[in-house]
Amino acid sequence: MKNNLKLHDKTFKPFIEYDKIEKAIDEVAAKINKDYADSEEVPVLLCVLNGSILFTAELMKRLEFKCEIISIKLSSYSGTRSTGQVREVMGMTGSVEGKEVIIVEDIVDSGRTILDLKRILDEKGAKNSKVCTMLLKPASYKEDIPIDYVAMEIPDDFIVGFGLDYDELGRNYKDIYVLDTNMKYFILFGPPGAGKGTQAAAMAERFNLCHTSTGDLLRGEMAKGTELGLKAKALIEAGSLVPDEVVEGMIENRFNTVKGVDGFLLDGFPRTIAQAEALDKMLYKTKNKVTAVVSLMIPDEMIKERIKHRAAIEGRADDANDETIANRIATYHEKTEPLIDYYRNAGVYFEIDGTGTIEEVRERIAELCVSL
Ligand code: AMP
Repeated sequence: MKNNLKLHDKTFKPFIEYDKIEKAIDEVAAKINKDYADSEEVPVLLCVLNGSILFTAELMKRLEFKCEIISIKLSSYSGTRSTGQVREVMGMTGSVEGKEVIIVEDIVDSGRTILDLKRILDEKGAKNSKVCTMLLKPASYKEDIPIDYVAMEIPDDFIVGFGLDYDELGRNYKDIYVLDTNMKYFILFGPPGAGKGTQAAAMAERFNLCHTSTGDLLRGEMAKGTELGLKAKALIEAGSLVPDEVVEGMIENRFNTVKGVDGFLLDGFPRTIAQAEALDKMLYKTKNKVTAVVSLMIPDEMIKERIKHRAAIEGRADDANDETIANRIATYHEKTEPLIDYYRNAGVYFEIDGTGTIEEVRERIAELCVSL
């Protein structure tokens, strides 16, 4: 299973595997071989740097007729959108005068680059030219120039890998990745003491998520002595839940204000069916839904043990005595456990073995998340 790629500020998910790319190159090379099998021409492959370095190399290895290679460096992308303006950055490294040229491109998008290349080749006296591209975006190609050889067609998405970059990163990967534009909404689920807080930081960091713990937010309000904090204090210290509207408001506020992340990691929310329904409504407004509920499974006897251990380290008031802990566990069974069926029915519930070392559990979670 391939991992997502994080390049600069963006996340890319696996899109086309190397095996499939190789097969497509085999097929396009076979077509070119057929066309040139009986030809007297010694065509010049024009590698359009930097993007088509890998494709040109792979293609050349498969060509079974005499050919030359030269390159040219052009640049038309700035960030993730085509600027529509093609610049000739570096001239051609050899002569094309009187020769047949096969332009070798990594990707044909709007077609502006091809238009410019054809113009440059005319100016330099090429006899004629054909275009061979690894990828074509038919939905955005607007020119009349025929694209003679196409290895693969793709939708109008931003991709990286196999020579293609996002601001110069990503060219070296042998698979192709696509920009992941969907916000992710993960719920870290499990009884008190299951290790949600411990796992959340690593998971949030790895997947560029905003870790949102309603317990931490409430404790923050209590520490500041706000009205909300004062109201929540007695309930929290008794091991009971604070009212649904309070936590729902805090979550919605987070969704509306946090920017620059690929999603949210909810920890300690939702804790009731009503909260889960409220969450669905919030997400529906932005055409999103819960990506996955990652449920940390630990045996009952381990719950109390872990809470006691945490009490010694963190000194949380709601961890302090057996009665509160028992109440929290009872509240979990009564109010929160029904969420398992709620999310199972939605097809987004996944159980992870929460026993073992922190690293072991972290890896299990990461493996699940990259597979989604
Ligand atoms: P936690 O840190 O997640 O164990 O939360 C500590 C306490 O904060 C809980 O026992 C509840 O009293 C309160 N709390 C946290 N999240 C919620 C929630 N989603 N709904 C109601 N109460 C919550």
